[in-house]
Amino acid sequence: MSSHEGGCHCGAVRFAVETTDKPEEAPRTALCHCADCRRCAGAPVMGWTAVASSTFRVLQGSPAVYQSSELAERSFCGRCGTGLFYINETVLPGLVDIQTATFDDPDAFPAMAHIQAAEEIGWMKTAHELPKFERFPEF
Ligand SMILES: [Zn+2]
Ligand SMILES: [Zn+2]
Repeated sequence: MSSHEGGCHCGAVRFAVETTDKPEEAPRTALCHCADCRRCAGAPVMGWTAVASSTFRVLQGSPAVYQSSELAERSFCGRCGTGLFYINETVLPGLVDIQTATFDDPDAFPAMAHIQAAEEIGWMKTAHELPKFERFPEF
């Protein structure tokens, strides 16, 4: 069993996940390209880590909740605005989807797949081919 903590940008909300050896409780990860995720994140793609709700707890703070569709609730920090969790008991019963980038060590939850690629922004298809700079480029 290992513990992974995370939180929002300002630190008001902190959470923890206790990963276990039970296969049914293994985190499932993905990069989601759906328009809802993109709009809520204000970002071209959203990294998700779905964990069993029994392995998840909020350590500090109370996230604000936004009903983003009929069945889904997205949580975020009401102070700094960081998106945090997605809960949809109909589509993802017993799971809490955590925005992977909010973990202190997001490398612990590598993405396993791209999902909702039907809604992907066109230029994301070749984004991995762009020039890459360790820091800002010099113009
Ligand atoms: Zn915050
Ligand atoms: Zn999505």
